Amino acid sequence: MELLGAHVSSAGGTHNAPVRAKEIGATALQLFTKMANRWAERACEDEECAAFRTAMADTQVRATVSHDSYLINLASPDATLRARSIESFVSELRRCEALGIDFLVSHPGNFMDERTAGVQRNADAISEALQQVPGRTVLCMESTAGSGTAIGANFEELAELISLVDAGLRDRMGICVDSCHAYSAGYDLVNDFDGVIEQFDRTIGLGRLKVLHLNDSKTPFASRRDRHELIGEGSLGEQPFRRFMTDPRLAGVVKIIETPKGDDATAMDTLMLGRLRAYAAGLPVVLPEKKPAVLPAAKAKASSKPVATKKPSEKKKPAGRKPVKKKPAKKSPSPKRSR
Ligand SMILES: [Zn+2]
Ligand SMILES: [Zn+2]
Repeated sequence: MELLGAHVSSAGGTHNAPVRAKEIGATALQLFTKMANRWAERACEDEECAAFRTAMADTQVRATVSHDSYLINLASPDATLRARSIESFVSELRRCEALGIDFLVSHPGNFMDERTAGVQRNADAISEALQQVPGRTVLCMESTAGSGTAIGANFEELAELISLVDAGLRDRMGICVDSCHAYSAGYDLVNDFDGVIEQFDRTIGLGRLKVLHLNDSKTPFASRRDRHELIGEGSLGEQPFRRFMTDPRLAGVVKIIETPKGDDATAMDTLMLGRLRAYAAGLPVVLPEKKPAVLPAAKAKASSKPVATKKPSEKKKPAGRKPVKKKPAKKSPSPKRSR
């Protein structure tokens, strides 16, 4: 059964997320259960949970994912920040249980001082939180692009993180692989897709892979950067997504897009899901023409490598860009942080 959808907005309340998922024809959804860039916590009261379930019943959505707050750093060496992170993370888990969310996707922390100690702190915090909140939501640690001191850019480290969680809680642990992050972290999904999947299976085990974030990348291979691009239009290109959509080993894995939404999230997400379904069916897809890179000076300086295939900045509608069937007229980069 297809489990395909997008990160959808919960603006106006979590019960609006299923409505938006329905609008784009999704069979899975991801949402935030609070403002992801604020510390302020909230609980999901009965009324909200009932409204969410009612809205869900009116959709084809069969798998739900929540993404945790960006501020949480369970690996922090700072006792105050780590305690606050655990408290916030416990709240995330509680809201997931209340709403009946299947998977909570969480970014591993930043170790800040020393890697080994950081991974241990991260795992200890996870054990503490899972003990505090018994339930059925599976916690999926997300693969990262590996910038700065981020934990979890390689499969070995994710495996280590899980192995350090209390043995009795490990069956509540899964993994979310983000295609953009993995490619940026040096997993060559373009030239060695099978090798990457096999490496994951050897290191972690495909049984742990519960969620895929299907995002193309604005930055080149091994860039260690996290900049999502529309499916098929970035440095990964179409081929890896055709594989993700057809590989029988990944058939039961929930697939979520977190691609730029432009001015019309419904139209753009619908277009992206249509593209992925075409890949699943082995059909050709017409992509917009690629243009030579015209980087703004500041960005060009910040980039370590020339980005020959990068598209021009899309703040303005590129002149002469050919209209493509079903494609919304305009799009602009999302101001939000990448997930
Ligand atoms: Zn990302
Ligand atoms: Zn994420």
